Amino acid sequence: MIIGIDLGGTKIAGVLATPSGKILMDVHIPTEANQGKKRVIENIHKVIDTLIKSHKVKIKAIGIGAPGPILYEKGIVVEAPNLPGWEKVHLKDILEKEYKVPVFVDNDANCAALAEAWFGAGKFVKHFLYMTVSTGIGGGIIIDKKLYRGAIGAAGEFGHMIIDSKKTYICACGNYGCLESLASGTAIKKMTGMDAIAAHLAAHQGDKKAKKALEEVAHYLAIGVANLVNIFNPEMIVIGGGLSNMWQHIGLPVKKEFKKYALTLPAKSVKIVRAKLKGDAGVLGAAALCL
Ligand SMILES: [Zn+2]
Repeated sequence: MIIGIDLGGTKIAGVLATPSGKILMDVHIPTEANQGKKRVIENIHKVIDTLIKSHKVKIKAIGIGAPGPILYEKGIVVEAPNLPGWEKVHLKDILEKEYKVPVFVDNDANCAALAEAWFGAGKFVKHFLYMTVSTGIGGGIIIDKKLYRGAIGAAGEFGHMIIDSKKTYICACGNYGCLESLASGTAIKKMTGMDAIAAHLAAHQGDKKAKKALEEVAHYLAIGVANLVNIFNPEMIVIGGGLSNMWQHIGLPVKKEFKKYALTLPAKSVKIVRAKLKGDAGVLGAAALCL
């Protein structure tokens, strides 16, 4: 049995799963991030203990998906945007000491990519990219069924490829014109004053500003997708995250438009699809870190 934990800013979700991804039990409790780091770690323990006790089974390994940059080999959470006080937390060491099993820690976008690779839309392909589009834009690169992490574990930051460096759009990373600053929920908010869900609704009701914003987001995403297609020649690009739920406004136009910018042959062979796993992607991906 393996355990997968999705450490989020508002809740900690955990599953006890078989190596084939069958969930035997799931638990979630509030993260209580504002109570400080110590409390959050106690809550992670709580979730793991509950899962272990529920089936009285031996655990082979624990996988944890956490926000922000992670040093994968050492299992260190470098910093976590939604978890105050989380700087250089040696999560792997802390949990291995307690549970005496291997612990793997990776960022949540990589976990979601792995989940799609093992149990979701990418189950039958070898080379694919996962792109999550919500408040920010993240990604995961699967090559030969394996996650590509890069030299220090920072690969796959699709949101920070620079699309238009004109000094109009500043990104959370400090640069100008990153994909994330042009084509995320944050971008929609900047353009319309509404969050993505409200803008989507407004677009459906004929609001011109909202419609235009979604068109613009799809346009920039199409450019981003074309760049990825040209660089990786993937079999498939899986789009997940909150904005993928607006498939009609985001996914479908991207599928059409990226072909304008991508090289003909790789554009012809790639499939652009919607992520299959919804709420479970984070925990299943964390569990898949153990496989
Ligand atoms: Zn950026």
